Amino acid sequence: MRFPFALSAKIAGHIIKHKVRRTPRFAMVLQLEPLHTCNLTCTGCGRIREYSTSLKDMVPLERCLAAAAECDAPMVSVCGGEPLIYPKIEELVNGLLEQGRIVYICTNGVFMRKKMREYMAANFSSALEPQLKQLVAEQLVTEKEAEAIRNADAAAKGKSVIAPSKWHYWNVHVDGLEFTHDLIVEREGVFKECVAAIQMAKILGYQTATNTTVYRETDVQELEDMFQFLSSLNVDGHTISPGYDYDAAKKDMVKRLGKKPEDFFLTRKMTVAKFAKIEEWGRLFTIFGTPVYQEFLAGKRDLTCTAWAIPTYNVKGWKAPCYLMTDGHYDGYQQMLDTVNWEKYGVVGGVARDPRCDNCMVHCGYDPSGALGTNYQSGDNWKNFKYNFGAKPKPCAATAELQQRAFNGFSIGKGHLAEAKAAINSPAANARGAFSNNGHDHETHVGSHCGGGDSTERDTLLAKIAEARPAQPE
Ligand code: SF4
Ligand code: SF4
Repeated sequence: MRFPFALSAKIAGHIIKHKVRRTPRFAMVLQLEPLHTCNLTCTGCGRIREYSTSLKDMVPLERCLAAAAECDAPMVSVCGGEPLIYPKIEELVNGLLEQGRIVYICTNGVFMRKKMREYMAANFSSALEPQLKQLVAEQLVTEKEAEAIRNADAAAKGKSVIAPSKWHYWNVHVDGLEFTHDLIVEREGVFKECVAAIQMAKILGYQTATNTTVYRETDVQELEDMFQFLSSLNVDGHTISPGYDYDAAKKDMVKRLGKKPEDFFLTRKMTVAKFAKIEEWGRLFTIFGTPVYQEFLAGKRDLTCTAWAIPTYNVKGWKAPCYLMTDGHYDGYQQMLDTVNWEKYGVVGGVARDPRCDNCMVHCGYDPSGALGTNYQSGDNWKNFKYNFGAKPKPCAATAELQQRAFNGFSIGKGHLAEAKAAINSPAANARGAFSNNGHDHETHVGSHCGGGDSTERDTLLAKIAEARPAQPE
């Protein structure tokens, strides 16, 4: 099956239950942000900036668990910031699993191997020795780390850990192949670390997923290469979503200076062009989401935003109207559902009810619409059922050529980051500094997953990357 039966059945059961009860609005996925602190400062990350005054604030464990229970979403995406920095991440994940939820940890991957070593130390017995040997042989764990795992003390043995489970996924943020990804996260070696973490997770029996945001300058061929490479690693699923692109400064330029929107925005038209092959990718790779949402992305149909189905809870409360825009925070999920005028948002019949929604086709606004039967067309249910319960695409072969295409930056000794920073920040490039984290003058701009990005800066950066992209191996 494309996705594990128990998980698909749980989600289908949740939808059917609410349809039978005629619940007008209900949660499908909770985006839980226990903190906004992060170990990285990705170019233009909206999350670490929008909540820059609350970086040290954290949602207490009990409140996180209560929020999940309150909205009763079958899936919880623990994001942030970097959730693996949250001091009680293990207790949070295990608490959510005890509540019977499917848990995604949306991580930048940097601390994943540490967390998995802790799991091994807490559970080490001779049964784990073959995996440990394999991890050492594949240089995913050092000899010294392996010894520490074998000789774990009582404290390590008694530690709460994140163990492999069919109800849990590591969901790793990957925005391209090595060269692009490391530039975006502004640190060389992060792509390599993500790959190592995914490999280690697969050896230990964890489920893995990736999430990718597509921007105006994202190279579609690179996305295909990335999916092939991730498929060769046996990654279990992928979320892919267009970046959110509302920016008051850019709007103003269109209005005042008569510039073309496509010079600035990932417009709906451009999103549709980028996602022209999404249905084919859905057949070839384990792309999460419904075929109905894929048809929407490919420009074949309209959907109405159902942002209330993917609510966000963070230090300030329930964030409305959606993961991307903030018009207010509420104390309770039901209070938010009852108070927000949902008719003010989204795009209906090609007309944006709120100008900020104009170019939005993001997964957290529209993917649930595909599952919930909004704008239902005959055959949709069967299509969704066939996709989720159908055969899993075969993994791509892990060839040396594919490896070479994936590792096209730092790991082949290019050390490209300093060079790229200099190029992008040079006066000649007339850039304010795509890598600079200062001087943010935009209004609202976050992409999806783990903060995502401010597309103005990412677009500048990615345009430079496109110029500097190394030649692909023959
Ligand atoms: S995009 Fe994610 S990994 Fe990057 S700085 Fe923001 S929260 Fe951290
Ligand atoms: S259309 Fe997009 S930006 Fe507007 S409310 Fe829905 S998810 Fe948010």
